[in-house]
Amino acid sequence: MPRTSSPVRAHCRALWIAAALLPGAAFAAAPPAAAAPAVLAWEAGDTPAALEGWVKQRLQRADAAVARLLAVKGARSVDNTLAVYDEAYDALYDAQAQSSVLYGVGATKELRDKAQALTQSASAALTALNLNPEVYRALAAVPAPADAGVRHYLEHTLLEYRLAGVDKDAATRARIKALQDKITERGLAFERAVHDDVRSISVDQSQLGGLPQDFLDSHKPDASGKVKITTDPPDAYPALKFADNEDLRHRLWLVDHQVAYPANTDNLRGLLEARHELAHVLGFATWADFAMADQMIGSPAKLKEFLKQVDTATREPGAREDAALLAFVQQKNPAIQKIPAADARYWQEQYRRAKFNFDSQSVRPYFPYPAVERGVLDTAGRLFHVQIKPVAGLKTWHPSVTTYEVFDGSRKLGTIYLDMHPREGKDKWFSTSALNQGVEGRQLPRGALVCNFPGGIAADPGLMQYGDVVVFLHEFGHLMHHIIGGQHRFAGQGAFNIEGDFVEAPSQMLEEFFHDYGVLSTFARHYQTQQVLPRELYERMTRADTYPRSSDQLRQLMYATASLNYHSADPAQLNFDAVWKEAFERYNSTAYNPGDHFWASFTHLNGYSSNYYTYVLDKVIALDFFAQFDPHKLIGLPTGMRYRHTVLAPGATRPAGALVHDFLGRDMSLEAYRKWLLAEFEPSATASSSAR
Ligand SMILES: [Zn+2]
Repeated sequence: MPRTSSPVRAHCRALWIAAALLPGAAFAAAPPAAAAPAVLAWEAGDTPAALEGWVKQRLQRADAAVARLLAVKGARSVDNTLAVYDEAYDALYDAQAQSSVLYGVGATKELRDKAQALTQSASAALTALNLNPEVYRALAAVPAPADAGVRHYLEHTLLEYRLAGVDKDAATRARIKALQDKITERGLAFERAVHDDVRSISVDQSQLGGLPQDFLDSHKPDASGKVKITTDPPDAYPALKFADNEDLRHRLWLVDHQVAYPANTDNLRGLLEARHELAHVLGFATWADFAMADQMIGSPAKLKEFLKQVDTATREPGAREDAALLAFVQQKNPAIQKIPAADARYWQEQYRRAKFNFDSQSVRPYFPYPAVERGVLDTAGRLFHVQIKPVAGLKTWHPSVTTYEVFDGSRKLGTIYLDMHPREGKDKWFSTSALNQGVEGRQLPRGALVCNFPGGIAADPGLMQYGDVVVFLHEFGHLMHHIIGGQHRFAGQGAFNIEGDFVEAPSQMLEEFFHDYGVLSTFARHYQTQQVLPRELYERMTRADTYPRSSDQLRQLMYATASLNYHSADPAQLNFDAVWKEAFERYNSTAYNPGDHFWASFTHLNGYSSNYYTYVLDKVIALDFFAQFDPHKLIGLPTGMRYRHTVLAPGATRPAGALVHDFLGRDMSLEAYRKWLLAEFEPSATASSSAR
């Protein structure tokens, strides 16, 4: 398993869990044993004590497995060593994964606090396992297994042990553990500061021009005629995109880009310092060198080469987009020489409307949340040849969570949990979590989506931006990867154990299906009239969606570059604002705002650390994958099944590069990506129907 991150939330907003020494405090007493042991944390009860008892059981199970593994006399084998190691890993994975989920979604502050502490404890135990020299020696003594997937798992595990520093002396290993401890603790504190810091502005009702009606309906003025707009995505995103009032946009953008600032200055400093020192202890020049050593990309030098290729592909079309936007804005206001960063989304939306005769609000009535949910599940089901059926009666962490089972014919593949709307105290982002891994014949994989889409409250139809629908597909791509790729002999062969810089490929691949009318017309219906999304409106939307493709990619390069730079130097010398500003100005034509401290709420710095590039690399791979499908019949031809078998089903039984090569029949290429960028202002190549 990855030594630098847990695969627990290998996705959009992965929690970078490394580890810690177990806190000295003893666990509270476990609750009285129930008739059947709870498989999931929330089945044990919804109190902090119940969670603690449940986690303790997993840690004890792992300890027992390690003791059994070390007690083996005679020849080492897969059965008496690797299988027992996997049991320990599986128990700790569950403890860490589910604590981590409850830390984001737990119903009470007390529960979230406890879940935060327990995430750290479980991480500590995982680190201890992966630094245990006796376990390492036992695994190293297992003869090469005949099964290629098992052999890969064993070899990869041994590699991770070596990279983790298992061969260092006892004092160095203790230092490594202490640093891992600090990394986990600072990382959690960094994320927590973001979760807990919802800012808002108060505006006059008269300033709400341009905002959609349902936004106005859910933002009624108080007694003094003021309306509150928060930095939560369902509030801030539409406001920054649609509000005609410049003052509103500027104030909201500024508070949004100051979330967790200055609180996270110390958290980030502590996090980066611990990472930097750990990299040194392990023999790497920087954290970035360390974090890329076991990834597809291999090293920061190779990454820079790759980023340069993407930069070359993106720069010129991006500059054309930016020039066109500026010319458009200057027609309205000749005094503007540079568009303020706070206005970028607004002007892009205005330009898109004018250029493509498309108002993104016009499609929102066709995307009410409940219908979109059914549509995404149905599309994934048809594409991957699985059946996704609602299941009642499962205990969850909150009454609003819905549950489904995934089947392949009569064979059940796993269970999924959807927690899709914002609520007080809940994680603000969009992520996929593996709740547990699959182990053939013993347990099926379970996964959860934690999102913040509109809807979920009475009287709100939950009209989604079309970009929300794309995010939904993205997250569902992760979920399908986890479920379909979690059908192996060992937990450690599950999909999220694959190289971290491959995990965003299956998710971004599924995003592309949004652009197909055959797919969309199965569920995009007007929430009042039930009319299907008109083809003509779809075509304008698809054309408009090609803008601003290149500047969006440049923004991804900005995040990738900033993430790399935060992890490529001695953190004591880093000026966080300066690093951010440099990346911003390199990849944006809008004006940098000195009040911009976005890095303080950029939780990917915890989750992905230096490896944000994953999104760009995987976009290139995802588009290459998608280009293998027949644009005239995306669903229903053998390609979907071939993709499922070649890319998703292997989970982590093979290196990611081999999966890519197998599906494409060659190494990946930037060709499909370049074509996609240059599809600018043209209808999508996939603007065709696919048979249901
Ligand atoms: Zn993702």
